[in-house]
Amino acid sequence: MKVVFHQDFLPSYTADPAAEGGRMEAIERAIRGKATFIEAVPAPEEAIAAVHTAAHIERVRREGLYDIAALAAGGAIQAAGIGLQEPCFAMIRPPGHHASAGSAWGFCYFNNMAIALEALFRQKRIASAFILDFDLHFGDGTVNIFGGRPEITILNPSSAERSQYLQIVHDHLAAQRYDVIGVSAGFDHHLEDWGGLLMTADYSEMGRMVRAAVRKNSGGCFAVLEGGYNHRVLGANVLAFLEGLGGEE
Ligand SMILES: [Zn+2]
Repeated sequence: MKVVFHQDFLPSYTADPAAEGGRMEAIERAIRGKATFIEAVPAPEEAIAAVHTAAHIERVRREGLYDIAALAAGGAIQAAGIGLQEPCFAMIRPPGHHASAGSAWGFCYFNNMAIALEALFRQKRIASAFILDFDLHFGDGTVNIFGGRPEITILNPSSAERSQYLQIVHDHLAAQRYDVIGVSAGFDHHLEDWGGLLMTADYSEMGRMVRAAVRKNSGGCFAVLEGGYNHRVLGANVLAFLEGLGGEE
């Protein structure tokens, strides 16, 4: 599978768990040889401004995080474009799903998923989208940005029970047809991460579910990295998800 990445994502850019040293290396080690890496290019500012306010963009600039956040958003745009032809993963940071139009929190600055989908909508390459956000945390930024748009459906599955969680994902993916499925792929709901619920095989299963829906839809799919903080299991979880997403029928 094609994976959009850049060496500039390796250094720690600030002091939060998403920016921690060794995190991207853990993923890179796990998927090396199983992925074709494509170098990320920064998002044009107009693509960021299609989603975020000028004041928010200026604030990110003042914090000295514009370049790395724009590179992450650019990687998401690339993955979304490739995703219309074949599944693609944006191995990027900082994450984005807690970024709203005019504010951000939770280790996020620009909403990578929203910027990527908005670019596809504006280019008229898609007319509908489904966002599966399986990160442990509710993707409030994405909901704030896209909530109320009838062409966009957002699922933040929630259940204290594994099999029910997977059933929710399955049922929503099967319910309707979408031009593209964007996955906000956070791996912090894993048994050995903060959420303590999902097994590594569950990420394969969700990848397979997305791929099955894509085949049924004759649509596209892509994923962007969100959370996931236990470096010992993060790589295996990403690999499991990519194997499910990229696997054969
Ligand atoms: Zn999270």
